[in-house]
Amino acid sequence: MSMITLEHSAVSLIKLGFDEKKFKEVIPYILEPDAIRRYSGPRVLSHFEKIGNDVSWMKFPTRENLKKVNKENIWTLCEHHLAEGYLNSVIGEETQISVYETYNKHLDPVNYIAVKNHLIQDFEFDIFVRQVFDCSRRYMDIYKFNGEQLDGKGMRELVQKLSEYGLYRLAYLVYKESGIVINQQWYDENVKKALEQAYSEDLAEGTYKYMKIPEKINQWITEKDFDHFDEGLIPVEVYDDLYTKVLKKMHTM
Ligand SMILES: [Zn+2]
Repeated sequence: MSMITLEHSAVSLIKLGFDEKKFKEVIPYILEPDAIRRYSGPRVLSHFEKIGNDVSWMKFPTRENLKKVNKENIWTLCEHHLAEGYLNSVIGEETQISVYETYNKHLDPVNYIAVKNHLIQDFEFDIFVRQVFDCSRRYMDIYKFNGEQLDGKGMRELVQKLSEYGLYRLAYLVYKESGIVINQQWYDENVKKALEQAYSEDLAEGTYKYMKIPEKINQWITEKDFDHFDEGLIPVEVYDDLYTKVLKKMHTM
C-alpha cells in the first residue's frame, strides 16, 4: 500500500528541515516509484514486492533517461523482473528494500537515497495500514475496520480518507515548526515545477494531476484551521507515531 504522493512530499519536507531549495532538488526522485508506474505498470515492480520466494524488481532510469522514458521504451532503458503469480489486491506484499539496493547502485547518490526513502515511507505506511485495518483476507477482497466488513473498493476509499487526514496532520506539523503553509498553491510552486524540470512533460503532468488536496482540507490548511482532527478515522496520536517512526528510519538527504 502506498502513501499518497502529497504525504510523501510533506514527510520529506520535514526530513529536510524545511529547506525548500533542497526539497525542490530531491522531490522528483522521492516521488519516482509512484510516478514511474505511468509506464511500468504494476506496483510490484517499482516497489519490489515479494511473491512466494520471488521478488519483482526494476532498475530505475538514470536522471538522463528519466527525461525520455515512456511506455514504449521503458523496458529497453530499464531492466526488470516481474515475479510470477502476483495478485493485484488493494494491499500489496511487503516491499523488499534490499532488493532495490541490489539493482539500483547505478543511480547517482541523491537519486538513490531519495527513491530508497520513498520505499521506507511506504514500508512503514504499509505496517500502519495493517494495524488500522484487518487485511488477513485481502486475497478474497475482504477487509475489516472497527468490526465492519469492507470490499476492496470500500477499503480503497477509507485508505484514501486515512491518507488525506494524514496530510492534514502533516500540514499542521509543518506549519507549527516552520510557518510554511503546504496548501495546493504551495504544491504548485514547489512540487509541480520541480517535476517539470526533472521529468518529461508527459510524466510531470501525469504525476502531478493526482496531487490534488481535497477542497475542504485545502481550505483548512490555507486558513491554518487545525481543529478538525477528530473528524478523521483514527486518533491523531496514531498518525504522530507513524510519522515519528518514518522520519527516524529515513536517511539524511
Ligand atoms: Zn509508493
